[in-house]
Amino acid sequence: MWDTKQNGEFTPFSIFIWRVIQLIVWLIGAVILWFLFFCPRLGEILFWDILIPVAPILLVLGPGIWRNICPLATTNLLPRHLNLSKKAKLNFKQIGRLNLIGVILLYLIVPLRHAIFNNNGVATGYLIISMVLIGTIAGFFYEWKSVWCSGLCPIHPVEKLYGENVLLTVINAHCDSCMNCVTPCPDSTPNIKATSTIKTNSHKLAAILITGGLPGFIWGWFQVPDFHYVASFYQILKVFIWPFSGLAISFIIYNITERIIKNLKDKTSIQIYSKKLTAIFAALAVSCYYWYRIPSLFGYGYFKKDGVLINLQPKLHSWPFSLITILLVIFFFYWFVFRKANKKSWTIRPQFASKKILVSQKNMPD
Ligand code: SF4
Repeated sequence: MWDTKQNGEFTPFSIFIWRVIQLIVWLIGAVILWFLFFCPRLGEILFWDILIPVAPILLVLGPGIWRNICPLATTNLLPRHLNLSKKAKLNFKQIGRLNLIGVILLYLIVPLRHAIFNNNGVATGYLIISMVLIGTIAGFFYEWKSVWCSGLCPIHPVEKLYGENVLLTVINAHCDSCMNCVTPCPDSTPNIKATSTIKTNSHKLAAILITGGLPGFIWGWFQVPDFHYVASFYQILKVFIWPFSGLAISFIIYNITERIIKNLKDKTSIQIYSKKLTAIFAALAVSCYYWYRIPSLFGYGYFKKDGVLINLQPKLHSWPFSLITILLVIFFFYWFVFRKANKKSWTIRPQFASKKILVSQKNMPD
């Protein structure tokens, strides 16, 4: 069902199944959005304490599934599906700039969770709506995923960091034929990673900021409590200082190590160690996330009342959760660092729309 193809085309049945799943997930997304505005506490739990904690492991195992069913993508790509888009193409530099803005947006929005979004469903709702508006307006003008899903989306840099050696490849349930709107296409390129595209300065900066900076950023983020309302400038400063300090430290460590690797004489060693470095930082980032997030979901976090889904502390000892986090860390290091690259892409590329595009794809500098 997931990757059925006939003569190079996806079967109508497999596309139909994906359309049904897209509709169901879109409706779930709409219900969560409704709760965020009209029953904010429930909306906050559904969004921040269920959906978001599941996302990183899904991005590690099968980012193509998320790319196919993300309700934001389903909405943004509707103008293109309905043939209402002008289908303009961005050039390489423009996509690089969008990728860099996406990373900056991620690093600016996530700290604000402590100050605003974690405890303010309505503000979270407005944040989501503003993203839907930007993505959908872009969808009326630009080709497929070029502006939002593979450009500006703040989740996209994390997809590229975590999705470098995936378990599942599924069909591309959005693009009906490939217009080569992004090169390299993150959906269709085997073992794509954040550092796969470093042809322009924007691409390069986006890649090292997300790969080198994310582990420290996540660590710093978990050192800050949630503020139920922002009472002072100091609180705003605090929500940024910890994640940004962590980001700076891991960014520096990453860059020094990368320089040491690039000074090696043997080209093969440079390639091998550079890949390992990216993989180690991806493993560190996702491990750090679950190391803090799983205990906090069940009431064992540093800040007892923050990000709790179910408080099991009065009933259960904390050791099962410690064990789960340790096992997850071992799993992520195996997954990223020790497992062989399997040459899988997130999704199967649909047929190219024309031979001309196929030729230009072959000549592209990735
Ligand atoms: S599959 Fe082709 S059309 Fe779709 S996002 Fe990738 S490059 Fe663009």
